[in-house]
Amino acid sequence: MALRNAQHDMIMRNYEQKQLRSQNILTQRYNEIYEKIPKFKELEDSISMLGVKYARKLLDGDSRALEEFRVKLNSLCQEKTDLLTQSGYPEDYLEPVYECPLCKDTGYIGNEKCICFKQAAIDLLYTQSNLKEILKKENFDTFSFDYYSDNFVDAKSGLSSSAAIRKAHQTCLDFVNRFGEDFENLFLYGDTGVGKTFLSNCIAKELIDKSYSVIYFTAFELFNIFEKSKFGRDETAEVMNSHIFDCDLLIIDDLGTELSNSFTTSQLFLCLNERLLKKKSTIISTNLALETFSDYYSQRTFSRITSNYKLLKLIGDDIRLKKKLMNMEAN
Ligand SMILES: [Zn+2]
Repeated sequence: MALRNAQHDMIMRNYEQKQLRSQNILTQRYNEIYEKIPKFKELEDSISMLGVKYARKLLDGDSRALEEFRVKLNSLCQEKTDLLTQSGYPEDYLEPVYECPLCKDTGYIGNEKCICFKQAAIDLLYTQSNLKEILKKENFDTFSFDYYSDNFVDAKSGLSSSAAIRKAHQTCLDFVNRFGEDFENLFLYGDTGVGKTFLSNCIAKELIDKSYSVIYFTAFELFNIFEKSKFGRDETAEVMNSHIFDCDLLIIDDLGTELSNSFTTSQLFLCLNERLLKKKSTIISTNLALETFSDYYSQRTFSRITSNYKLLKLIGDDIRLKKKLMNMEAN
């Protein structure tokens, strides 16, 4: 990952702060326990004295010292744990608390960057703080079926607006629950303001919370990056471009609204195809009808989508629905 030094340093400083925070929590907890359970401190002192005593024995050539020490140490440690639990504390109360238990907030596992480092880099590069604010408002907890009517029925599919959204909602939940095990892609289509972006935000929130690397772009932004990274002219765009091909989930919102040319549309095919080969999931949303989609993009792009994506049509033509959704999106 070609982060610039300053960006790398910024992320590492963040890890140092997390470690500091975790140390402070631990110190506070120790002080709390010492105050509430004086016997606990006594046991700790005994353990230190035990260490000194047996170190001396070992130096004097006592061959059984080590084994004896282990037995006594184990029993004292067990006593400490018992004291904690008897006083109503969890057994691991004095274990360090990490935001990321995988790398213990160091950002690295051995020489490899941890999954949380990758997300931090993505956050930094895409200033996803913006997306995170949106995700606080648009997620599965705030999703409401109230805006979808039973009375509005799509002539083609025979589905009501309400039935279509329930089906799509369930498919999105399944997508999240199976993520990482099953390889799936979603294609959400339907008119403006029927909740396509909202649903993809629900998914983004769940997966970011599970530390998957998620990148969200409007098609307009995405094509802009394709254009900028052409021939490696723009370093940041180039780095972004590589993430677009690699991240765990890529969300392309509003496909069909971008300014495209033959270069960018072939990049789109390349990107979608590469992600399929790498089994990295993609969610696409578009206002285009399926019939017009293949006019906008090449037949090969269209066929990759129809054969590898779950197609979900959202339905709604109700002004009340549109208004409410637009208010929700505007707030
Ligand atoms: Zn980590």
